[in-house]
Parts: sequence; C-alpha cells; structure tokens
Amino acid sequence: MPTLEQLLAETIPDGTFGGARPRPPQPRPSTPRGHCTACDKPYALTTEGLVRHHDRPRGTPCPGSRRLPSRPAYTPPSSGSTDTRA
Ligand SMILES: [Zn+2]
Repeated sequence: MPTLEQLLAETIPDGTFGGARPRPPQPRPSTPRGHCTACDKPYALTTEGLVRHHDRPRGTPCPGSRRLPSRPAYTPPSSGSTDTRA
C-alpha cells in the first residue's frame, strides 16, 4: 500500500515530497543548421550564419556555399546521422 508521501510524490513530481527529481531542460545542439538554397540539404552554419562550404557530388563547389540558408534546420541528435560518410 503506498504511503501518503508516495502519493504526494507521484502527484507533485517536483521533488518536494521526494521521489524523482525534475529533469533539467535538455540543451539544444550548439551547432545551428540550415538548408542550402542550391541543393536544399541541411548543413552546419558558420558563425556568421552562412551555410558552410560544401561540394557537389562531382566535386565542384556548391553555389549555395557560404550563403544564407533558405530555412533553418533542426535535426535531433537521437534521430541518427544522415551523413553519407562511410
Ligand atoms: Zn548546397
């Protein structure tokens, strides 16, 4: 049979009556990302807020490199990497 303190801890789970402590807010990834205007792929942004330099598959620089992103991108770190690096 649960005690009064256990019921209170479940009802008010802020640590006042013991039990689980509230979790601190999860920090967002420090690296902002944005979609390239040319190839529409998400890339990390530079400190100036520009899409970092990247190349087309043929090895030529993408025209969207070092330009403002078309829209911001947010990829949770737990969703797995979409990098094509082997
Ligand atoms: Zn691009």
